[in-house]
Amino acid sequence: MPAHKLPFEFNSLKYHRKILFYLTRAFAENTLSHALLFTGLQGVGKQAAAQLFSMICNCTGRAGSVLPEPEADEQSGDAENNIRPCGQCRSCQKILNSSHPDILLIRPTGSIIKIDQIRGLIQKLSLKPYEAVNRFVIITDADSMNPEAGNALLKVLEEPPDHTTIVLTAGQVSDLLPTIVSRCMHIRLSPLPEEYIAHVLEEEHGVVPDEAASLARMASGSLVKAVSMKTSRWLDRRNHFIHDLIALRSGSIRFVMVFAERVSQDKEVLAECLEVCITWLRDLIVYRYAPDRIMYTDLEETIRGEYQKSDSKTLLSLIDLIYKVRKKIESNGNARLSMEILAMKMAGR
Ligand SMILES: [Zn+2]
Repeated sequence: MPAHKLPFEFNSLKYHRKILFYLTRAFAENTLSHALLFTGLQGVGKQAAAQLFSMICNCTGRAGSVLPEPEADEQSGDAENNIRPCGQCRSCQKILNSSHPDILLIRPTGSIIKIDQIRGLIQKLSLKPYEAVNRFVIITDADSMNPEAGNALLKVLEEPPDHTTIVLTAGQVSDLLPTIVSRCMHIRLSPLPEEYIAHVLEEEHGVVPDEAASLARMASGSLVKAVSMKTSRWLDRRNHFIHDLIALRSGSIRFVMVFAERVSQDKEVLAECLEVCITWLRDLIVYRYAPDRIMYTDLEETIRGEYQKSDSKTLLSLIDLIYKVRKKIESNGNARLSMEILAMKMAGR
């Protein structure tokens, strides 16, 4: 049977194949925990991993097949195919169409998961699965459960129904009630490789290679973050900030003041500007010692032209000052005044 083309969001799962392999083996050996907690960065593929795992466990196209060890598998070069469900059987098709009655997906309505959603779930779980070998409950952003919902879910985790696996996803363990975490097997999904994120940006979003590399590096392993940076035109805004930062050095005092006023008018703009400042200054320092480790790889030429204009000590003291300014603004200090002082220092006044 030819490998079925799985949805695009499943592509990144090849980077989590070892985890999926071990989970699949535990399932086959009947030693799988009834509750799993997937943590990892936003956009790393937590929900897709849970969905793929539910497909693997219920796929009738490859029922009874024993998966090879991942190591042996890697040598053969097609590791990801071996943890793939067939994608074509009735069960796989229903899961792909989100119409499987036993694969229950709970996600926040608005920004929270409410008690009513968990009550509805408990009612469904009191019945036997309709057709699945193993029913799945996938609760995404489980950290958005309000306390009532969390406590209701706790009862389910304490007395789990048969033939049911509950998968919670969250950014990090500390976002959840410890009583919930202690009842789950915790699986951490690693950030995605920069090369993969850059590749997706180029192939799926038409980003030119240099910019794709920079966005991928800035996204720190989160595809969702990279794509949102692309769609929100983050690069344009960053370039604008950097243009101004360079211009500060030769600008008039009026220019410095106007810059400070402009960026301090909006909280989000200000936060973004300070973030760009820190990375920019960091790159100017790093370029001197390890040019291949800069974050703004697409600006290498600009960085090469600028890095010798200040010594590392000055740049480090500016970074230090930015952190202080950020703290001050977060505790409701005068943003404009703080920015004026910072901009003057950056201008070398
Ligand atoms: Zn199948």
